[in-house]
Amino acid sequence: MKRILVKGVNWLGDAVMTLPALRAIKARFPGSRMSVLTKGNLADLYACEPAVDEVLPYGGGFVPFLRLVARLRREKFDVAFMFPRSFRASLAPFVSRIPRRVGFAGDARGPVLTDAIDRGEKLMTNHRVAYYLELLRPFGDVPAATAPEIVPPAEAKAWAAVNLPGNSWAGLNPGATYGKAKQWYPERFIEIGRRLAARGFRVAVVGGPAEAALGAKVAEAIGPAATNFSGKTTLPRLAALIARCAVFVTNDTGPMHVAAAVGAPVVAIFGPTDPRTTRPFGERHTIVRHEVECSPCLLRECPIDHPCMRDLPVEQVWAACEGWVK
Ligand code: SF4
Repeated sequence: MKRILVKGVNWLGDAVMTLPALRAIKARFPGSRMSVLTKGNLADLYACEPAVDEVLPYGGGFVPFLRLVARLRREKFDVAFMFPRSFRASLAPFVSRIPRRVGFAGDARGPVLTDAIDRGEKLMTNHRVAYYLELLRPFGDVPAATAPEIVPPAEAKAWAAVNLPGNSWAGLNPGATYGKAKQWYPERFIEIGRRLAARGFRVAVVGGPAEAALGAKVAEAIGPAATNFSGKTTLPRLAALIARCAVFVTNDTGPMHVAAAVGAPVVAIFGPTDPRTTRPFGERHTIVRHEVECSPCLLRECPIDHPCMRDLPVEQVWAACEGWVK
């Protein structure tokens, strides 16, 4: 297999959790060239990954789809690994006649896959890092899961060194793009930020462009020790920023996985999602959650009165922070 196409997943956190699989695929086929097909907003992430030789950003629409198919045909890929499990994600490799098409079974994809990986219950309760590695199953043993790793490029590190001078930084990520159900409350993040500031930390508030107003509100309420970086960083700069933090307090989101992948200590707040499958990979993290029978519900909006977050007090999250910054 010399020419490998990877169809990447659509969410930042999932994309980070696929990185060990990309490395394992590259190692399984020495001398191969790997191209990753991805939504434009994740292109920067794959550009940081040494296993990836080429990033192919793509958008929606019929004409761009036809252009993509023509390009994939020209490049004569030997195999396509499709990480998302939607029918749509597998269509371009199928129409382009890539001879081996590997993906997870489901969503009526039988005819478009040559190698369909069964998603049994055990696989579904595995950590997502291990789950994605299963795509190697048709090519021999599946390697053990290893931690995702992001090495920010020099430009991003230089930017972070200028914008986060000194060593005493802590990070807060109060948003959750997926939906409000995953969000611990801004006023509680503000209290954590104030306590970190009282300990001598400067506080970096981060988030995506849609969370800029939330980040501004949280940073302003914390006071002069806080700076709002929400919506103001590229992905590599976000990774470099988080790498400078002594602790990163976050909802279960993409930046949480970025934090784990740059080796920052993470305090990860879980509510509707399942830490068995999406906790930060590795040892340098503390999971904080209030156990409720309805979790994991995986909903974007809570249909009741949000006890998984409502009953998670500041003291519990602060105790986890103190474990990393005392
Ligand atoms: S249904 Fe339960 S687990 Fe889901 S968001 Fe609401 S309280 Fe949390």
